[in-house]
Amino acid sequence: MASFDQLKLSPALLERLAELEFHTPTPIQLAAIPALLNGQDVAGQAETGSGKTAAFGLPLLQQIDTGKQQVQALVLVPTRELAVQVRHELKQLAQKIDNLKISAFYGGHSFSQERASLAFPPQVLVGTPGRLTDHLYRQTLDLSKVRLLVLDEADKLLEMGFADEIDQILEAIPKKRQAVLFSATMPDEVKQLIADSLKNPQFVQVSPNAI
Ligand code: ADP
Ligand code: MG
Repeated sequence: MASFDQLKLSPALLERLAELEFHTPTPIQLAAIPALLNGQDVAGQAETGSGKTAAFGLPLLQQIDTGKQQVQALVLVPTRELAVQVRHELKQLAQKIDNLKISAFYGGHSFSQERASLAFPPQVLVGTPGRLTDHLYRQTLDLSKVRLLVLDEADKLLEMGFADEIDQILEAIPKKRQAVLFSATMPDEVKQLIADSLKNPQFVQVSPNAI
């Protein structure tokens, strides 16, 4: 049976996975984690509940430089509920990594509180596209050091009408970056977003009954 030990994850992450009783990687994790640790872009399709957060979260956390207080990884999600949930799951996974700050910015949250918190920028920022572009307009958020971009639930991001905001965010982050996109479905709009935002992506697909 597959195990996380074969995936070249750091001791801090492996110890935490054992504590969380994550013994076996899910199929999407088994497919995506090696490609992401290898520096490739990944486009993945898998059902809800298949473990996509850890599939992008573990390689993302492993690549953060905790010695630098700047936004290095940006995770775009369609809703505030998901922003809160993904931040929580990443914090769970990152518990044994010192000096790591993970924040979530989203509509309905206090803008001025978010702006004040940027005096100490998080290395990992989870957010909804609308709120993140608000920060860009008001020049309160520096995304010039982002090296990792995640588009989570890409089908929902587009269904909710965030295409323009995503374009603006893509303009605000460096071209030299690693990107990962996950989606439960792959309509043409999502394929177009993959073409616009990822470079030579490895496609990983898990059939609904694989988990
Ligand atoms: P998705 O984003 O694909 O809908 P999640 O990443 O939210 O799925 O994961 C669903 C649930 O499965 C979460 O509660 C998560 O903590 C748990 N989980 C993820 N990976 C594993 C694993 N390898 N072993 C056990 N539980 C896991
Ligand atoms: Mg998810």
